[in-house]
Formats: sequence, structure tokens, C-alpha cells
Amino acid sequence: MTRILITNDDGIRAPGLAALARMAARWGDPLIVAPDRDKSGIGHAITLKEPLRAHRLSAGALPCEAWEVVNGSPTDCVYLGLHHVLAGERPALVLSGINPGPNLGWDAFYSGTVAGAREGALQGVPGVAFSLLSGPELPFDELGPIVDHVIEYALATPLPPWVCLNVNVPNPRIGPIRGIRGTCLGQRHYSKEIHVRQDPRGGEYLWIGGKDVFMPDLPGSDCNAVREGFVAVTPLGCDLTHPAALANLATIESTL
Ligand code: MN
Repeated sequence: MTRILITNDDGIRAPGLAALARMAARWGDPLIVAPDRDKSGIGHAITLKEPLRAHRLSAGALPCEAWEVVNGSPTDCVYLGLHHVLAGERPALVLSGINPGPNLGWDAFYSGTVAGAREGALQGVPGVAFSLLSGPELPFDELGPIVDHVIEYALATPLPPWVCLNVNVPNPRIGPIRGIRGTCLGQRHYSKEIHVRQDPRGGEYLWIGGKDVFMPDLPGSDCNAVREGFVAVTPLGCDLTHPAALANLATIESTL
């Protein structure tokens, strides 16, 4: 049976996770290992200085066998899922999501959802991250045909080593979804707001936030694709080296 490991960054009770597990069950035998709480924005963090505790949920709580990792990150969950729960049994795919809200452009660096898929890639298993763009509702269950299409592709078409797919789906409540496009990573610029508040005891606290987002017009990018109503599928590699900058570094080389 095809094993499919599933995680997310929104916590094990998030509706997008259960929806993804139901869809994955059409393609294999899903196993959920997910954080016990919302870890959105945790990026690719791994827990090395604290103990990790994993608890198996009672049968029926989710559509498949499910483990929650107390205060774990998506990276922790994929790592424990592959090397502890599955004990070396290699799944066909690592899926992450479905995240409520986009993970476009530079979000990929902050996103725990994307990190879950990328951790799969780093561990040698093809990973796919799914995000549904914001809207008046988040109809995760309506994404079945799109998720099926991507899973079918990922199972049939080997990705290069250390590559995962980042899938962003336009919200069908905002406009009709026109198709699926292969895209490059775009850019997202947030307003650089820091909210300064006072806690009930008079201490100052800060909150990073900024709802305003600007996405430059980059043809072929994930940002442009979703803006035009298309599902964006962006292959992300783990080699972050910038070839042109590396070539320029010829002049830094020295024997000292
Ligand atoms: Mn999230």
C-alpha cells in the first residue's frame, strides 16, 4: 500500500488537515503527524533543545492514524513521522496543509506549511505543500479535483532530488479557478508594521504585523498565476546558491 505522510503548520485540529487526509486516502494509506497547536510562520525550525512528546490520537478522531507532537514544528513532525512512527518505512509522498491562506513568493521562507514539504525533500521523499488563498469561506473539500491532479502527478512523475512542490489554490469563492500552471517563486512585500501595545501590567509588547501586501508583477510567478485565477505549482529546490553571485565571487578568492 502506498504510504502518504501528512503534516501541517496549523495544528492537528485544523480543518484543512482532515480535508487533505480524506483526499490522500484515495491514493494510499495516509498517516498524520502534526503539531498539537498552530505553528504558522515557524518556517523550517527544528526542536533540538527540548524534549518532544508524540501522542497517538484515539481512533476516529481523524480520517486516518494520527499523531500529535506537543509543541512540535512541521519539520519535527516530518522527521519523527519518517524516522520514528514509520520507523524507516519510506512513504511515497509527504503532504503538508491545506493551509488557510496563501504561501506565495517569499512566504516560502517563513511558512511552516512549505517547510513540511521541504523537509520531506531533504529526507529524500517528494513533498507537496498545499495552501488555499483567503476568502469569505475556506471550502477545503472543494479542492478535491485539484489535489487529486497534483497527487497523481507527484506519484507518476519523479521530482529531481531535493525538490518539493508548493501549490497555491485561488479561493473559489472569489472567482472561478481557470486551471493549473507551473510557476516560479514570485515576491511578496508586507507593510513593515510593528504594533506597540501595553500588557495588563503596564509592560510594553510588540507584535509584528502588517496586513497590506504588495506583489510585484513578475510574469510566470506564483503570485501572478493566482492573481489570474490559476492554481500555482512552484517547484522549490533546496540548493539556495545564487549562480550569478557565485560567479562574481571569483574576485573574492584569495590564498590569504
Ligand atoms: Mn498555517
